[in-house]
Amino acid sequence: MTVMSALSEPTLDVIQVRRDFPILERQVHGKPLIYLDNAATSQTPRQVIETLDHYYRHYNANIHRGLHTLADEATAAFEQTRDKARDFINAADRREIIFTSGTTEAINLVANSWGRANLKPKDEILISQLEHHSNIVPWQLLAAQLELVIRVIPVDEQGALDMVAYRELFSERTRLVAVNHVSNAFGTINPVREMATIAHQQGALIVVDGAQAAPHEPVDVQHIDADFYAFSGHKVYGPTGVGVLYGKAELLEAMPPWQGGGEMIRTVSFDAGTTYADIPHKFEAGTPSIAEVIAMGRAFDWVNDIGIAMIGSWEQHLLAHATRKMTAIEGMRILGTAPHKAGVISFVVEGAHAQDIGLLIDQLGVAVRTGNHCAQPLLQRFGVEATCRASFAAYNTLEEIDLFVESLERVIGMVR
Ligand code: PLP
Repeated sequence: MTVMSALSEPTLDVIQVRRDFPILERQVHGKPLIYLDNAATSQTPRQVIETLDHYYRHYNANIHRGLHTLADEATAAFEQTRDKARDFINAADRREIIFTSGTTEAINLVANSWGRANLKPKDEILISQLEHHSNIVPWQLLAAQLELVIRVIPVDEQGALDMVAYRELFSERTRLVAVNHVSNAFGTINPVREMATIAHQQGALIVVDGAQAAPHEPVDVQHIDADFYAFSGHKVYGPTGVGVLYGKAELLEAMPPWQGGGEMIRTVSFDAGTTYADIPHKFEAGTPSIAEVIAMGRAFDWVNDIGIAMIGSWEQHLLAHATRKMTAIEGMRILGTAPHKAGVISFVVEGAHAQDIGLLIDQLGVAVRTGNHCAQPLLQRFGVEATCRASFAAYNTLEEIDLFVESLERVIGMVR
């Protein structure tokens, strides 16, 4: 991957980056695709696609259980991704990396294993108002079953967390904080390190949903001091159906298994009972998404070749450009204007329904997301049911942003 050198402007060679993405050559409704739905899923570079293809052509086999060559090769490649994932988020120990089907499953694992083993009636969980449903509903399910209390950390008008309220919400019953690192709906970057420090001072743990942070900024779980950190492969240029749960080793070791089955046991007996494998395997029951895990490792390599900081600063450049241009549109309301934001712009336009904008702009080849972004409590807080959301990735260009804004203006003109 070529990165041209310059001092002030971000120096990503975006034309070169785009060559890695076959899908960007396609047309939609006869127009070149402008893909701005990256917060939902990012597109996949050919290196990752080739890794999937190579696996199925050359060494498709179940892992950890065979003695034959193919099984050995598949196991080695699978386990290599664990090392890559450890490096990607700077975990201290490869055993702290658990492969899941994604962020959703990772959070459900924490809720059902750590939560059931450690929470009692009247215990309190703090959840931010910025959360994706996948960091709300697992806790609500648990709260209903264990009679827990959920308290909500509010956001201010800009969509930033109210840190004064956060501090005040703690009580002697607070056991856990569940917060995202970056909001998918507004792009707000949350001060998770500071939040972790406060949580720990109060004797609580913190689970960080990193689904929207891992693709955009360097993540260091040790620096954050996160107890748990979750993210999904498909938002980091990898395949769907895989993700990572990081957990501190001492916590994972003390937690009971969540799902039972093959691969997660040491011995199984009807008479003597069952004993479990060491971490991380204790939490990886059954046959995982082998090809996808291996290909996710290739996605980490791809990101590392460019540099995650470089990707992040390119997206900041796109964000600033798009915000400037969009703010000039009459009736435009951007939701989420926190000082620290990732490349996400959620917006509504006076007199134009978000749904109509989404459908019509698709006719012009532009893919944006429309709806509640799985963040209904946040949208309710801002008095809207739906927004349009444009979200950026390493392969988006300034020209695409210009075309997007032009298309947006055309569409608004049509529906008003
Ligand atoms: N958390 C956040 C902040 C997200 O943006 C998403 C997906 O959009 C998720 C969690 C859920 O991720 P997945 O569907 O990959 O499990």
